[in-house]
Amino acid sequence: MERIEICIVGSGPAGIATAAALVQRRPSLRDHVLVLEKVQHPRHKLCGGGLTPWVDEILRELGLEAQVPDFRIERVRFYVNDAPLLFDIPGLMRTVRRNEFDAALANSLRSKGVRLMENVAVQSLSEQSDGMLLHTTAGDFFAKLVVGADGAKSVVRRQFFREEISRVSRLLEVLVPARNGALEDFNSQTALIDFRPMRAGLQGYVWDFPCWIDGRPHLNVGLFDSRVHENAAQTRADLPALLEQHLAARGFEPSTKVMGHPERWHHSADCFSRPRVLLAGEAAGIEPWLGEGISAALAYGPIAAETLLHALDTKDFSLRDYRERLRAHRLGKFLQRNRIVARLFYSRHLRAALPLFGRVLQGYMRLKHKSH
Ligand SMILES: Cc1cc2nc3c(=O)[nH]c(=O)nc-3n(C[C@H](O)[C@H](O)[C@H](O)COP(=O)(O)OP(=O)(O)OC[C@H]3O[C@@H](n4cnc5c(N)ncnc54)[C@H](O)[C@@H]3O)c2cc1C
Repeated sequence: MERIEICIVGSGPAGIATAAALVQRRPSLRDHVLVLEKVQHPRHKLCGGGLTPWVDEILRELGLEAQVPDFRIERVRFYVNDAPLLFDIPGLMRTVRRNEFDAALANSLRSKGVRLMENVAVQSLSEQSDGMLLHTTAGDFFAKLVVGADGAKSVVRRQFFREEISRVSRLLEVLVPARNGALEDFNSQTALIDFRPMRAGLQGYVWDFPCWIDGRPHLNVGLFDSRVHENAAQTRADLPALLEQHLAARGFEPSTKVMGHPERWHHSADCFSRPRVLLAGEAAGIEPWLGEGISAALAYGPIAAETLLHALDTKDFSLRDYRERLRAHRLGKFLQRNRIVARLFYSRHLRAALPLFGRVLQGYMRLKHKSH
């Protein structure tokens, strides 16, 4: 059985950032860190692939590279009411395909000498006096410390961090070749964010993100239901019907079938670490207002790494300082702020006041336009 210091479960942005941050801060650990990945890169990952500038900032800091085809979004068309609000925001974000992006990150990590084993799924873990045993499809591994960076359906989380309250958002996505109306959005580098389905009970929005797929222009169309309010008084929106309605209204015919995947959102009162095990990325939770998770998943990396290094140095493997490190970091503040915004924004009161809110915004935009 192989014995290592630190085992990272999952090689999405969170797992890769954690491994990169560990060897950046402590190069001597390079041969003592192992990343286990249940599938093989380039692997499918349902995602809009929208990268904010924060992603590039973190990649630069970690010395990670991901040179993949991307598409620059320079403006957004928002719908709160039926009249659109157009914002020019140069450098707002770029879109990538996650299979390509994550595979490039994995290669970048490997080029630093870190070992990443693919097609090895962690099935369960058991506690030993001096570490953790990971039972995988490729046999057992022993590690002093374990990072659960295995995404929204985390096995590590399920085993050690039971939750009382569901913190799961639901998302649907479909890819549409950019023809006719869709091509206009593509050519004008415009993303669409439509909050009008909130009228039908959605606690989120519908998006159209232009992107390249195999060199051909497409729109990544999706729907996000944050579910930050889960009490009986809040009726659940019919997600497939709302997405279908959106596709029909825009005259789109999807090229493939609709796919769905959850997101997990972060609440600072939850538990993210226990002796010898901590969670990073979506396993620990992202923000539930817009559901932007790639930057957050990467940002967990350096915080997780510092917690693990502190444990190795002090031989205190409780990892109890992780919560405070998270809370004090820009990431913790971002997650906390966006959770509060989501609670307010998707409350029943705001949904009822949405038409008025839209008119106020339109009035403000007109005034702003005149004053220029
Ligand atoms: C439809 C949809 C659209 C989205 N759009 C955007 C967007 O436009 N912009 C944005 O910023 N975010 C978006 N997100 C969120 C974003 O995709 C996630 O937040 C992000 O991928 C989280 O990264 P992660 O590394 O924590 O987890 P993941 O990227 O999910 O990586 C987890 C890894 O762990 C591996 N794994 C899982 N279980 C095991 C196991 N048992 N053993 C070993 N390996 C395992 C998986 O194969 C995977 O490679 C979207 C999400 C969805 C569902």
